[in-house]
Amino acid sequence: MNQPQSWEARAEEYSLYGFTDMPSVHQRGTVVLTHGEGPYVIDVHGRRYLDANSGLWNMVAGFDHKGLIEAAQAQYARFPGYHAFFGRMSDQTVMLSEKLVEVSPFSSGKVFYTNSGSEANDTMVKMLWFLHAQEGKPQKRKILTRWNAYHGVTAVSASMTGKPYNSVFGLPLPGFLHLTCPHYWRFGEKDETEEQFVQRLARELEDTIAREGADTIAGFFAEPVMGAGGVIPPAKGYFQAILPILRKHDIPMISDEVICGFGRTGQTWGCQTYDYMPDAIISSKNLTAGFFPMGAVILGEALAKRVDAAVEAIEEFPHGFTASGHPVGCAIALKAIDVVMNEGLADNVNRLAPRFEAGLKRLAQKPNIGEYRGIGFMWALEAVRDKATKTPFEGTLSVSERIANACTGMGLICRPLGQSVVLCPPFILTEAQMDEMFEKLEKALDKVFAEVA
Ligand SMILES: *Cc1c(COP(=O)(O)O)cnc(C)c1O
Repeated sequence: MNQPQSWEARAEEYSLYGFTDMPSVHQRGTVVLTHGEGPYVIDVHGRRYLDANSGLWNMVAGFDHKGLIEAAQAQYARFPGYHAFFGRMSDQTVMLSEKLVEVSPFSSGKVFYTNSGSEANDTMVKMLWFLHAQEGKPQKRKILTRWNAYHGVTAVSASMTGKPYNSVFGLPLPGFLHLTCPHYWRFGEKDETEEQFVQRLARELEDTIAREGADTIAGFFAEPVMGAGGVIPPAKGYFQAILPILRKHDIPMISDEVICGFGRTGQTWGCQTYDYMPDAIISSKNLTAGFFPMGAVILGEALAKRVDAAVEAIEEFPHGFTASGHPVGCAIALKAIDVVMNEGLADNVNRLAPRFEAGLKRLAQKPNIGEYRGIGFMWALEAVRDKATKTPFEGTLSVSERIANACTGMGLICRPLGQSVVLCPPFILTEAQMDEMFEKLEKALDKVFAEVA
């Protein structure tokens, strides 16, 4: 192997990048990281970056949490791996399922494990297909989601994701239907109130169910706050308007809490923040504070009973991953839940959320910021060419990429998403670190807006 010299060149030579704007990489190089300290990551040159994206939303306890590292080390020493097939599973798996049901909004329920959020959504879809077929409705298979939703990248979860880039794969698969994104600022019509907007979306759901037939629709999936769609909290009253329609037609409602779960929105679950009761919850990312790849399907009481009956009828649920319910992942998740809920991390989110919002509100006074939006510790600023008409910048200008690149140059990591910049720092962030984030972000905004004016 003829090895090029720099870390950056070696990365580009041999690694295929996913979800990466390649012109940005060619221009600024790859950031090759060696370790982390609290909410900071450090690269091969010793440069420090405040990671205002918690890695990928998931490193909520920062990058060097002692307790989590010790929990992993202890479990590796005790029992470093096992599966959950054939009626065997580790004691850690037993304890985590109990814990997840205990902290869920359900009075009881059941948990199934995967290695990722995509697989958890995929598993949930298969479970619904299986359930409806066993209940005599094999044609009840269509899946409803929303435009701009992000549910993952496997063939099924990418079909649920409502992003145009999936067309390069010939996705979505047939039978995956997308409804209007509940983003009032962007999709509300002229002179339409927020309440009228929500009523229009509820009517769209009713019309879709009437057109397709309730007996052809397996389930409705939604993130409480859309994450990778650009941090989009639901329009006011959205879930209250659509839940009764789904109930009326026996369409299970699945809350994809891969980002919102475990404190990101200020409460344990996003469905609690937005006051609705789903039939099942999808968890991943923060479940292990990013210290282990793991996802979980948490079925509420009613759905768990129905799935149990369907499994008993054919004596087996023929599904599972080799590492489902991995003992090290489960031990880390147990510790992560304890750390977030009992070591003051969730409290810190609630304590600093108003300060977070105040900082963004101030930045949003700039003429080229159209909207700031979010809740808890997940926020976005959306850039616009014209504030009054909400006209976006020309796509060719890559404004959000430029802002993020300018931030990276100053030692701040934030994520460009469409015309927005996303901020979702670890829950351990201090006031001083929040000030550092805003200072650097403001400098980057001023620099880029001056360039593209
Ligand atoms: C990240 C994400 C997923 C996919 O999880 P992976 O672990 O990347 O497969 C699913 N749903 C939501 C809401 C996510 O943010």
